[in-house]
Amino acid sequence: MNIPRTNLPRVVIIGGGFAGMAMVRKLIGEDVQTVILDRHNYHTFQPLLYQVSTSGLEPDSIAYPMRKITRNSKKCLFRMAEVKSINTEKSYIETSIGDLIYDYLVIATGSKTNFFGNKSIEKNGMWMKTVPQALNIRSLILENLEQAVITDDPEKRKALLNFVLVGAGPTGVELSGAIAELKNHIVPNDYPDINPNEMNIHLLEGLDRVLPPMSEKASKKAHAFLEELGVKVHLNTMVEEYDGHLVTTNTDLALKTETFIWAAGVTGAPVKGLKAEAMVEKANRYEVNAFNQIKGYENIFAIGDIALMQTEAYPKGHPMVAQPAIQQGKHLARNIMNILEGKQLEAFKYKDKGTMATVGRNRAVVDLEQGSFGGFFAWFIWMFVHLWFLIGFRNRLVTFFNWLYNYWNYDKAARLIIRPFKGYEKQMKVDKEEI
Ligand SMILES: Cc1cc2nc3c(=O)[nH]c(=O)nc-3n(C[C@H](O)[C@H](O)[C@H](O)COP(=O)(O)OP(=O)(O)OC[C@H]3O[C@@H](n4cnc5c(N)ncnc54)[C@H](O)[C@@H]3O)c2cc1C
Repeated sequence: MNIPRTNLPRVVIIGGGFAGMAMVRKLIGEDVQTVILDRHNYHTFQPLLYQVSTSGLEPDSIAYPMRKITRNSKKCLFRMAEVKSINTEKSYIETSIGDLIYDYLVIATGSKTNFFGNKSIEKNGMWMKTVPQALNIRSLILENLEQAVITDDPEKRKALLNFVLVGAGPTGVELSGAIAELKNHIVPNDYPDINPNEMNIHLLEGLDRVLPPMSEKASKKAHAFLEELGVKVHLNTMVEEYDGHLVTTNTDLALKTETFIWAAGVTGAPVKGLKAEAMVEKANRYEVNAFNQIKGYENIFAIGDIALMQTEAYPKGHPMVAQPAIQQGKHLARNIMNILEGKQLEAFKYKDKGTMATVGRNRAVVDLEQGSFGGFFAWFIWMFVHLWFLIGFRNRLVTFFNWLYNYWNYDKAARLIIRPFKGYEKQMKVDKEEI
């Protein structure tokens, strides 16, 4: 791996997501050798993936090079590698590019898509955790529109113009809102051969309301926004199977579709090698104490989505969203320094800054401690917060100008099939498999 052993203690961080990045940025400049590894050479801003898959943003606006973070420090190093397993006896990790000894190990590997054991969905559906997967969805949507224009089979045309999304959490809601914007503003101009009313967007949810993690008020508002945009919301509807053409559910609803997007859940993405007692099996996340130490280990920590810290306020662990990951990353950096300086460890306390989701232009819902609200002001706050947390000045600037342009022109500039998806599934398998 070409990483020199110095006299500094070595902190190895697996994963350059929100948690890993927050931690590394705090450790730069400290007297430790920090090594961060990720299978990608960039950080992904997952909350805006849906804009990549619906042609609103180019992928490079939401990805940030890992080496740009580490380049100014000789003590902080990045390696692009897949971490395969951990040897806790001898304190080293095994990766796709070799082994590496650690003094302190931090697992920040996030989560992966949860299919709840449904093989037909895993085989035939689309999902969105990474930039390549978002690009696959973008290509698929645009290819299906192109095919709908030329097919003379009415049943096939109907299936090509049916868009089915499963899971009305923030991802499903935001994605269906953005596809509805395509239907309402792009299709009428770009595809004169398609009557926009032929295009149907179905959002299926197993529970009795959209945005289940948010307040009832936000949920009702978001539901109304979705209907205003023309999204057909089906509550209390569980998908049973998708064979690549037909979706069947536990109700009478059966839909023919060539676009089936699964956004119904995530589960932890652990690394092999730790004792079974370290895992909370049902959640597939590591059980950590208030200092993010994994159960049964002193020098191995977990932060972000992969960590399950039970507290009085969060008996099932913190929500799997960006803020706990960022706050834990920063906090653990401080605690590692506390250990090295012989100071007491400080317990982590999550500061909930609120939850929000957007449903197309001018519409969003926000839950804050002080109350819940929706509409244009919420949408404005949503934009500001996302720009604020996007990493890199260039990314903020490009995203801001893209949004301005899209807003004034009712346009989505990135509706390009650069890398076709259909007929290329085999080559794309790697992208799809990396769940
Ligand atoms: C589509 C989508 C939309 C979302 N929208 C929102 C939102 O609006 N607001 C919000 O707060 N949260 C949102 N989230 C959730 C939020 O993105 C996650 O909670 C957050 O990314 C968790 O951060 P993390 O650092 O724990 O993991 P991640 O950000 O997932 O990072 C994990 C990193 O580890 C790397 N990795 C994993 N395994 C390995 C391995 N074995 N070897 C090497 N590298 C590895 C991955 O490549 C990745 O870079 C969204 C998530 C998704 C998927």
